[in-house]
Amino acid sequence: MREARLHHAELAASLRAALAADALTVLYQPIVDLHSGQPVALEALLRWRTADGRDVPPSKFIAVAEEIGLVVDVGSKVLRDATAQASLWYARHDVAVSVNVSARQLASPTFAADVLTVLAERSLPPAALIIEITETVLVDAAGELAQQTLTALREQGVRIAVDDFGTGYSSLAYLQRLPIDILKIDHTFTAALDSPGDRGVRFVGAILGLGSSLGVPTVAEGVETPRQAALLRELGCPLAQGYHFARPCPPEGILDYLSTPVAMRASLT
Ligand code: C2E
Ligand code: MG
Ligand code: MG
Repeated sequence: MREARLHHAELAASLRAALAADALTVLYQPIVDLHSGQPVALEALLRWRTADGRDVPPSKFIAVAEEIGLVVDVGSKVLRDATAQASLWYARHDVAVSVNVSARQLASPTFAADVLTVLAERSLPPAALIIEITETVLVDAAGELAQQTLTALREQGVRIAVDDFGTGYSSLAYLQRLPIDILKIDHTFTAALDSPGDRGVRFVGAILGLGSSLGVPTVAEGVETPRQAALLRELGCPLAQGYHFARPCPPEGILDYLSTPVAMRASLT
């Protein structure tokens, strides 16, 4: 336990230093239209390489940032970076940026105003931004303040996506009540398309049915194979994201990606 505590304290200290030294970077992964193959958005994914060259996955350090109260600063760095990139990509290629937002960020009373200010500073319309929140955050967001925040952003045209759908604890009642625009099916459901029998396929079909009855487009996460992509297409899933289409990539590579015709893109992945 003592070792774990020490490790945690070390991680927290070096994360603080990394943020101060601007050593956190953001990669971007395309979200594509499953029929045309065209990208519709780019998800911003945070990366941290420590001074001694270790890559710490966000699944590990975001939780630490939450605990030590650093996630608001980390999140605002990602938002500033992603919107700066979007100002290069949105007008020319009509792709939005999709940014993951944690519970603590959403709980800040100034969050909506901060987001709208950053967009205005970049001369970006709110349609250039999608905010991704996980189901767990969505449940917490049932609180009045968070709901007002999401509603205020939506009214301005920022879209709200539910991330990792199907893995959290949200009930259908939350989905019905809260303002959402996009449903992202967790990668575990995509992976289950490969399991024997048709259970996995029927499950994804049911989630897609839910999305379409709510009138929101669905993104399948973690699409790794042509077979999964074909099945999803057959099932009527409109959007997808995953290694089969493109891996998360540094911003310098994205303009090339966006300028490459779809037919030639397969060779890049
Ligand atoms: P997420 O938002 O669900 O992001 C998708 C994750 O799936 C990313 O992991 C991405 O690299 C990975 N991925 C993409 N395609 C595939 C695929 O085909 N197969 C598989 N197996 N995985 C794929 P990553 O970058 O490690 O991020 C993990 C999680 O950390 C994210 O899950 C998100 O919840 C969180 N995260 C990342 N960046 C941020 C951030 O800036 N702020 C916050 N609050 N959370 C972040
Ligand atoms: Mg996400
Ligand atoms: Mg996800």
